[in-house]
Amino acid sequence: MSSPLQLTFVESASRTTTLPESPREVAFVGRSNVGKSSLINALANRKQLARVSNTPGRTQMINLFRLDEGVGRRTGGKNDQTLADEPLGTVVDLPGYGYAKASKAVKGEWPKMIEGYLLEREELDMVFVLVDGAIGPTKLDQQMLDWLRYNTVPHTVVATKLDKVKSSKRPGRRKELAAGCQLDPGDPVWVSATKGDGIDKLRSLVRMHLIE
Ligand code: GDP
Repeated sequence: MSSPLQLTFVESASRTTTLPESPREVAFVGRSNVGKSSLINALANRKQLARVSNTPGRTQMINLFRLDEGVGRRTGGKNDQTLADEPLGTVVDLPGYGYAKASKAVKGEWPKMIEGYLLEREELDMVFVLVDGAIGPTKLDQQMLDWLRYNTVPHTVVATKLDKVKSSKRPGRRKELAAGCQLDPGDPVWVSATKGDGIDKLRSLVRMHLIE
C-alpha cells in the first residue's frame, strides 16, 4: 500500500502566467462535480485540503499543492539541509470546466487561460483528466480529450466514483467509458474517493511523475 501524498496547499492563483516555479508538475482537470476535490483529498488522506462542492469561488481558481516528499525529504537529518531545500514537485488543481453557474466572463476565460497553461508549461509532466465513471465521458470531456490528443499533451484518464457502478455492471462500464475516450479498456485508472479503490495506484503514478 502506498502512503498518502504529503501535500501542502501553496496558493490559489487566478492566472497561469505568475505561477511559482516548480521542477515538475502534474495537473488535475475535469468537469465541475466530477469528484476532483474529493480525489485530491483522498490522495493526501485529508478531509479538506481541496474544497469539496459548493465553493465556486475557490474552484474557479488554480490551486497549487506542493508534494513535501522526495529525495531530500526522505533522508531528512540536519546535514541534509541542502537537499531538503530543493524545490519539490507540485500538484496543480485546475478549475473545473462546464461549471453551470459560472459567469460568462469566467467561462470565456477558462479555455484561454488553461489551454495556455497546458500547452506552454514546460514543467508539466502529466495531465490527469477526470471523467465521471458513472456517467462519463460527456461531450465536454470528449472535447477536452480530443484537444489534448491533437496538441500531444501527455494525459491519463481517471474514471471517478467507481463505487457508484454496480459490480455486475463494471466490466461493461469499463469498456464503454474507455471506448468513449478512444482508449483500450485497461487504460483509464478507475478510482473511488469514497471507498478508496485505485487511490494507491494513482498515488504511485503521481509520485512517478513528480519524484522518480
Ligand atoms: P469537484 O467539483 O470535481 O471538485 O467534485 P467534488 O469533489 O466536489 O465532488 C462532487 C460530488 O461528488 C460531491 O457530492 C462528492 O461527495 C461526490 N463524490 C466525489 N467523489 C466521489 C466518489 O468517489 N464516490 C461517490 N459516490 N461520490 C463522490
